[in-house]
Amino acid sequence: AKQAGSNNFQFYSPEYSAETRLQRVIEQQLKSALRNSTFHLCYQPVLDVETGRIVSVEALLRCHETNIGPDRFIPIAETTGIINPIGRWLLAEAARQHKAWLDHGLPLIPIAVNVSVVEFRDRDFPNRFEDTVSEHGIETNALQLEVTETAVMDDVEHAIAMLSRLQALGVKILLDDFGTGHSSLAYLARLPLNKVKIDKSFVTPLDKDKTSRVVTNAMIALSRTLGLEVVAEGVETEGALEYIRTHGCTQAQGYYLGQPMSGADFEHWYWEKGQ
Ligand code: C2E
Ligand code: CA
Ligand code: CA
Ligand code: CA
Repeated sequence: AKQAGSNNFQFYSPEYSAETRLQRVIEQQLKSALRNSTFHLCYQPVLDVETGRIVSVEALLRCHETNIGPDRFIPIAETTGIINPIGRWLLAEAARQHKAWLDHGLPLIPIAVNVSVVEFRDRDFPNRFEDTVSEHGIETNALQLEVTETAVMDDVEHAIAMLSRLQALGVKILLDDFGTGHSSLAYLARLPLNKVKIDKSFVTPLDKDKTSRVVTNAMIALSRTLGLEVVAEGVETEGALEYIRTHGCTQAQGYYLGQPMSGADFEHWYWEKGQ
C-alpha cells in the first residue's frame, strides 16, 4: 500500500477495517455483558477413567450478547483490557457457584478456572485470588487454576514465581493445552505444577491418527515421570477414552463424557449419574 498523506494505508484496506469494525462490535458487546451481568459460566466434568467418578469441573465462559465463542472473544478481551474485570467477575462467580453446590449437598468438587495470559502477568493476581476465596468462605482447594503452556513459556522465571505463590496458597495448578506451546523438558521439570492437560488436538483424533498416539504417549510418560497428574481433554469417542485409559492417563474430559453445562444442569447431571 502507498503512503497517502496523514491517512495511513489501513484506511484503504477494506479487509483490515472490516476486521477492526468487527472487533469494535465485539468489544462493545463484552462491555455491555459486563454492565448487564449477562456473562455466565458453564461447567464441564473431568472424570477418573478407572472409576468414572468426578474429579473436578472446568469453568468455561459464555456470553449471550455475542454469537461468537470464547476462543475468539477472549483474545479481544485481552487486547482491550476488558479481560481484567471479566477475570475478577469470573473468580467470584466460580467461588459463588462452588459455595452453592456445597449448600445443596454436593461434595467438594473443585472448579478449575482458566487464567488469561494478561491476568497471569499481573503480580497482584495471587492476592486477588486469595481475597476472593476468603470473601466467599470457601477453601483454597475449591478452585484450581489452568494456565496455558504458552502463557508460562512467555516468561518462565515470572511463571515459576507466580505458580509458587499460588501453590503456597494451597491451589492446584494445571498446565493447559500441553503439547502446543513448545515447552522444553528442562523447563517443565522446574515449573511448580500439579497436573497437565493434554491438548484436544492430540486427543480427539487418537482413534485415527498414529502421530497423535505417539505424541500422546510421550506426553503421558513425561508427565508421569515428573509426578504430575494427567488429564486428556477433547475425548469424543469410546476409542479415544479406551486408548488413554490403557496408556496411563488417569483423567478425561470431553463431549463423550459430559458437555459443558450450566450450574443448575450440572447439579442434575451429578445426581442422575449417582456416585
Ligand atoms: P480450553 O481452556 O482449552 O477449553 C476447552 C475447550 O474445549 C472448551 O471450548 C470446551 O467446550 C471444548 N471441549 C470440551 N470437550 C470437547 C470435546 O470433546 N471436543 C472438542 N472439540 N472440544 C471440546 P470453549 O468453551 O469454546 O473455550 C474455548 C477456549 O476459550 C478455552 O480453551 C479457553 O482458552 C478460552 N476460555 C473459555 N473460557 C474461559 C475463561 O473463563 N477464561 C479464559 N481466560 N479463557 C477462557
Ligand atoms: Ca482450559
Ligand atoms: Ca485446553
Ligand atoms: Ca485451548
